[in-house]
Amino acid sequence: MQDFINVILPIPIEKLFTYKVTEEEAKLLKPGMRVAVPFGKSKIYTALVFEIHNTPPIVYEAKQIDQILEDHPVVTKVQLKFWHWLAQYYMCSIGEVFRAAVPSALLLESETLILRNERATIEESDLLDDEFMVFEALQHQSILRVQEISDILDKKNIIPVLNRLLKKNIIFLKEEMYEQYKPKLVRYVQLGKSHRSEENLEALLNGMTRAPKQSQVVLTLFQLQAVTKKPVKVSDLENASNSSSAIIKTLIDKGILEEQFVQTDRVVYEGGDETETLKSLNDFQKEALKDIKSSFKDNKVVLLHGVTSSGKTEVYVKLIEEYANQGKQALYLLPEIALTTQLISRLQAYFGEKVAVYHSKYNVQERVEVWNNVLENKPVAQIVIGARSALFLPFNDLGLVIVDEEHESSFKQYDPAPRYHARDAAIVLGNLHGSDILLGSATPSVESFYNVKVGKYGYAHIERRYGNVLMPDMELVDIKEQSRKKRMKGHFSERLLEEITETLDNGEQVILFQNRRGFAPIMECTTCGHAPQCPNCDVSLTYHQHRKQLRCHYCSYHIALQETCQACGSATLDTKGFGTEQVEQELNTLFPKANVGRMDLDTTRGKHGYEKIITSFEQQEIDILVGTQMLTKGLDFRNVNLVGIMNADSLLNFPDFRAHERSFQLLTQVAGRAGRTKKRGKVIIQSYNPNHRILQQVTTNDYLGMFQEQIYEREQYKYPPINRIIKITFKHKDYNKLNDAAEWFAKSLRNSFGGNVLGPEYPPVARIRNQYIKNVIVKIGENYSLVKTKNSIKRIEKSFNAISYYRGVRVIYNVDHI
Ligand code: ADP
Ligand code: ZN
Ligand code: ZN
Repeated sequence: MQDFINVILPIPIEKLFTYKVTEEEAKLLKPGMRVAVPFGKSKIYTALVFEIHNTPPIVYEAKQIDQILEDHPVVTKVQLKFWHWLAQYYMCSIGEVFRAAVPSALLLESETLILRNERATIEESDLLDDEFMVFEALQHQSILRVQEISDILDKKNIIPVLNRLLKKNIIFLKEEMYEQYKPKLVRYVQLGKSHRSEENLEALLNGMTRAPKQSQVVLTLFQLQAVTKKPVKVSDLENASNSSSAIIKTLIDKGILEEQFVQTDRVVYEGGDETETLKSLNDFQKEALKDIKSSFKDNKVVLLHGVTSSGKTEVYVKLIEEYANQGKQALYLLPEIALTTQLISRLQAYFGEKVAVYHSKYNVQERVEVWNNVLENKPVAQIVIGARSALFLPFNDLGLVIVDEEHESSFKQYDPAPRYHARDAAIVLGNLHGSDILLGSATPSVESFYNVKVGKYGYAHIERRYGNVLMPDMELVDIKEQSRKKRMKGHFSERLLEEITETLDNGEQVILFQNRRGFAPIMECTTCGHAPQCPNCDVSLTYHQHRKQLRCHYCSYHIALQETCQACGSATLDTKGFGTEQVEQELNTLFPKANVGRMDLDTTRGKHGYEKIITSFEQQEIDILVGTQMLTKGLDFRNVNLVGIMNADSLLNFPDFRAHERSFQLLTQVAGRAGRTKKRGKVIIQSYNPNHRILQQVTTNDYLGMFQEQIYEREQYKYPPINRIIKITFKHKDYNKLNDAAEWFAKSLRNSFGGNVLGPEYPPVARIRNQYIKNVIVKIGENYSLVKTKNSIKRIEKSFNAISYYRGVRVIYNVDHI
């Protein structure tokens, strides 16, 4: 009897593919093992065994596999089930899930580019012959294709060689050419060893009578160290002793002080230090924990609704500890951007090396390591903290899943497929493992709170901030009025300026929020009204002053700043609207003595860009931090007393049924950065429309009021959570073809679903990278089957694909689009 395997190929084809295997291979193979297989004329892919059987395929002759890549499954049965669910629910192929789920080092294929690791130290004698040949070839040519290596070795399947070279750290794969990063070092000093005792110090000071400035520094350092015992930052010492870095340097040169550099933004746990004991919870936290646990007994997903700074993290930590003590794995999911060193170090302080971190900014090697540690259920990866891709790790004894900041829309994968929502997928994953699931937020999504209301989820609540710190005092400032009276300085109202001045005078820090990056979103000619547009996308270019450029935020197009209008030639170009860059510039003029920092996409690129800014804000090297919504994500700064929102209106006016919910969440979260520890913080919200319902609800912390109004509107207009939606996007570079195609599809949908089909409509930006875009939305009522609806849509797509004129039009499904 012939043996066959069905495999998942990492490409968007609908079906599994069948290959022939020998009897021995069939005995060895198990679902979840990788094999290298030929595909098409000359390609080789890494495929994943799904099942082993004896039925030959009907329409094609099965090919032989090339090679088995390992002796044990790297993907578990539960994972395969999970992938299957994802593909079904989010309407994509399981191959696309495979590709998204595993680190790319496990996915070597004929198109992968191979590079030499320049930093590796290599003992040539350690290399096998084939390894050496590749190594040598890479000395002559820095990038090789799999095909080229295949030619060099005169072998078809070279994936095993590459795997070995990867393990030995000799090569990189193309995608991981990450930047050379130099960690940020902070300079600390302490008294030299021989001067630390009191007598010796006295002798030292006596000998310094003719250098009063130096002795001042030594005395100050002595005082500082009496308080902290830790080494003292050079900048702190400079300030406290009123001296200069030159004097400190002299003392270091004389050996009176010792200097030391400490890396501040590393993520890796260095071990050594004792782990801290967990903080004991206050009564509110204890109550919440009790409620959570009792809901878990009823097998319910629980929503922890705790105001900003109520100490949710400490509650998570307590829970994690309990599961870890039972030897179970725990997964702590966060939106990518909220995954900060702040939080990671907090967890590592409690759990030491049990904590593993998994997210996309880690290189492939690091990710494969975490993958294997989780697969083998090693203690070093018992607690995984990660962004949404951590859902795909091969857990085998997952006891607890936490989804923090569950309201965050960035949990939804946008492109490419699978377009999954990490919160919802986490719930499915948890159920497959029989784990307990906790969602947490200060501003729960309308969806999750609705599930609480209808009894589907359990609920726990913390209404007070930790330490009984009051919620910040919020003040709305009417900038329409202020502009009319010509009281604005740039984009700052008098009130905001007063508060900034006072905060800085008190030695405290300020956060300012503006939802746009760049200098100004639009540059417009005041003579003819022309605004420079991106040639590839239907948007105006954004003015970036720092680089003197006009840039498109949808593609990489940019041009130098224009002096004169391209349409009419007059030199009357002016900016409209404003972004973070402009706020930063105005601050530099208004508060010349303050250090202003900026946190947006432009300043946080690179592996550690974001951490660098957070660290220097934390260390108070920055007085005022201006930023986009990156600022909102779970940061815990102790010295921030004022938060200013430059303009709340652009958020509220966004054309989307979730705009109001999102504004509430965003504003509440930014406001929550103020006054987290001792003193009551202050928040100033500038708006042209301060009477807007949402602004009123934000300033009175009226979550319930917001929820009720939103749910009423969603019911009226048939939006989630009461109905479900599937967005279908059509893309093509030919405008007419796109229109016809979308029209045809929508009409067919209407035949099945009638009035529950909206569109086709152009999105606000109707062309991106020269592709025209149209959307159709299908709403699915409470009493309709989601599965049947999807099947009908798929049937329509089949007929659609049969029409040759529409070939080339991309159809993209986004289930539960947000
Ligand atoms: P949230 O995640 O709800 O915004 P955090 O967990 O960041 O709040 O807590 C806010 C602050 O209060 C943090 O600085 C944290 O260290 C402190 N905190 C919270 N709970 C406790 C506790 N039980 N004991 C001591 N400090 C706590
Ligand atoms: Zn003009
Ligand atoms: Zn563009």
